[in-house]
Amino acid sequence: MIIMDVLIVGSLAYDSLETPHGSRLDELGGSASYGGFSAAFHNRRLTGNGVALVGVVGEDFKQDHLEWYIQSGLEVSGIESSSGQTFRWKGSYHGDMSEAVTHETHLNVFEHFQPKVPISHTSPKVLMCANLHPALQLSVLNQSQAKRVSILDSMNLWINIAYDELIEVMRKVDIVVLNDGEVRMLASDDNLVTAAQTVLEMMNGGMLVVKRGEHGVLALHPDGVISIPAYPTSNVTDPTGCGDSFAGALSQFLAQGSGKVGRKELAESLVHATVTASFTIEEFGTERIRNLTIEEYESRLEEYRIISQTS
Ligand code: AMP
Repeated sequence: MIIMDVLIVGSLAYDSLETPHGSRLDELGGSASYGGFSAAFHNRRLTGNGVALVGVVGEDFKQDHLEWYIQSGLEVSGIESSSGQTFRWKGSYHGDMSEAVTHETHLNVFEHFQPKVPISHTSPKVLMCANLHPALQLSVLNQSQAKRVSILDSMNLWINIAYDELIEVMRKVDIVVLNDGEVRMLASDDNLVTAAQTVLEMMNGGMLVVKRGEHGVLALHPDGVISIPAYPTSNVTDPTGCGDSFAGALSQFLAQGSGKVGRKELAESLVHATVTASFTIEEFGTERIRNLTIEEYESRLEEYRIISQTS
């Protein structure tokens, strides 16, 4: 059995997007696409043991898009093709673009999806449950055993319509990644620090990572709090997938280590997650994260360390 570095389950989608910089129709997206391209980038850069995707697409899914996954080094045997339409999400961003407004969500083939993790991928080092219905995340968690850590991302929709299942799945993972709005919503508390503590108490131990957009990241680790700044960018074209790219990079970094995730290691992984996410927002869709070069990444990482004084 091959031990993959990262197994990602999440949505594979066609997104319709509107931002102050333009609009796109049926752009390849989905939490697993962004997370996958991001993890695959770091897997190539670090010469890792591979990243695999689990998800479902419809009969309208383009062969070219499957090729994009394969070309980036993603293992796609866990992608099922089903009759019906691919998942679709329509969203827009306004003002400072810090929050997506969802206009439409069509689960389509995800509605009756029963995830099947290929037997060869049931023991990844890191299992990343990217944003998806918590019942599907739970099914994948039940079929696989992460050798090191399991990570979970979610969104406001599931807090609203699948609260109990979300809490159940949050209690099964080692790290939960949410944005500040979701943490405040889950805790019914406007103070982010106390809200984060409340959410951590809802979990079964573990760690909580709170994405705060342009304000950076706050993380609660058993050995103490971590706070790191965002990469200050003037080029925000399309924030879609920023959080998923963040989680994908975090997953690949944690797959490099062994034993318990230390506070310093988590902080360093969050630096890489932050720098990676800062590229995704520069172009519509997955274009920037797919075509990112190691030189561009290293150069921004160095710049980030100088700006944030984290070196
Ligand atoms: P992010 O901007 O990182 O929060 O994620 C954006 C991606 O999440 C888009 O590409 C969407 O296709 C995907 N997405 C939006 N709503 C959902 C949902 N309810 N379940 C799964 N994925 C979703």
